[in-house]
Amino acid sequence: MLELQDLHVAIGDREILHGINLHIEQGETHVLMGPNGSGKSTLLMAIMGFDAYKVTSGKIIMNGVDVTDKPVHERARLGMGIMFQRPPTISGLKLGKMLNVINPDKDRDIQPAITRMNMVDFLERDINQGFSGGEIKRSEILQMMVQDPSFIMLDEPESGVDLENIHLMGESIAFLLQKHQRFANRKNSGLVITHTGYIMDYLDVDKGHVMINGEFKCHGNPRDILKLIKEKGYNECLRCDKIV
Ligand code: ADP
Ligand code: MG
Ligand code: MG
Repeated sequence: MLELQDLHVAIGDREILHGINLHIEQGETHVLMGPNGSGKSTLLMAIMGFDAYKVTSGKIIMNGVDVTDKPVHERARLGMGIMFQRPPTISGLKLGKMLNVINPDKDRDIQPAITRMNMVDFLERDINQGFSGGEIKRSEILQMMVQDPSFIMLDEPESGVDLENIHLMGESIAFLLQKHQRFANRKNSGLVITHTGYIMDYLDVDKGHVMINGEFKCHGNPRDILKLIKEKGYNECLRCDKIV
């Protein structure tokens, strides 16, 4: 589904990612952990193809297609979707209008998704304008449900979400990824950044990686890695080039 080959990424003149290798199979969900400022968000932005994140060497392959030099909208058309850590406010664009624009199948009824995410009263409002933290995340998840990507990147989906919304978020992300025993057809793939690991209560996760100073330092069972970090700190990961 997604393959990164020795990916180096720079913002301006500064190299942030120093050779990332990653292979996510169809149906797999990977978890990305690591300290603040280590380059986790940069990795997602570079995979999605935003201009400021320059791939200086290496490759991004999506479903066998080299997308390293392709623009964001083409990657989206190939099935990539992203939820930002801090989603931007979009003045002058109403949520309802946006949902119609990004719906790839205009005959599909998106009303059930809108109801499911509790966003019926938000359709006439500008995207994220004055939304609370939880409302922003619900709106972003709803947009993903409508866009229906097959490779989903989530940047700290739990941040800024109150306890009441956490359950809805977790369930909705599991639905998006089709990553739960109750979904027969586990076709989608994901890359999820998390600090708390709460999202793992809702998802079947397959692999974990720890990013430190722009490099992967640790790979393995994400629950074991989280336990290691909680007990011994990120420094322990510096020593574990091996699989946890
Ligand atoms: P993380 O998500 O792991 O906290 P980031 O990817 O956000 O880390 O940041 C990695 C490094 O890149 C940080 O030093 C950060 O200051 C820098 N950085 C991120 N975005 C920008 C930007 N738009 N301009 C300049 N530096 C940036
Ligand atoms: Mg290299
Ligand atoms: Mg980040």
